Amino acid sequence: MKWRGILIAGLVCAAVAGFAIWLQHAQLVGHWLQVHTGTVNEPGPYYGFWSGFGSDLAEFSILGAVGTAVYQLVKKYNCHEPGCWRIGNHPAAGGQFLLCYRHHPDYRGKRPTHEVIERLHRQHLENEAAMHGKLEEIHERLAADRAGVPDKRAEVPDQEVEPNRAGPNRAASR
Ligand SMILES: [Zn+2]
Repeated sequence: MKWRGILIAGLVCAAVAGFAIWLQHAQLVGHWLQVHTGTVNEPGPYYGFWSGFGSDLAEFSILGAVGTAVYQLVKKYNCHEPGCWRIGNHPAAGGQFLLCYRHHPDYRGKRPTHEVIERLHRQHLENEAAMHGKLEEIHERLAADRAGVPDKRAEVPDQEVEPNRAGPNRAASR
């Protein structure tokens, strides 16, 4: 961030200095520019340049566009950890971040080994099973409520436990 500011300031200073010099030697620079861009004295010393290498200058804009595209791709796929240049292909926080193996919290700075992959896979399956079980439970409770059958599990809903748990925490933080 700081370097970008310095770079921009430097470029602005250089542009201002260049412009000042140009104004002082307007006629000279104008003639110099005419000769060097090949607008006067067409078959002069720069004919070969402008019909040769000079005519390829436009292609640099294409290279620039390609460069920009590559830069955008890099920005999109590189690790979201500030200052990291690795490719981030491991989503974290539900896909909000793409991180490299070194910065992904699950891998603890190491390449995921076979054991880590197996452990995380098993955790994922367990989480899914737990979620599915919870959903099933809620579904059953709702079905029982709709049928008008008093359900014993409905007497101890999770919602009542939450405020009690939050109470002491809130007191402790104050
Ligand atoms: Zn990284």
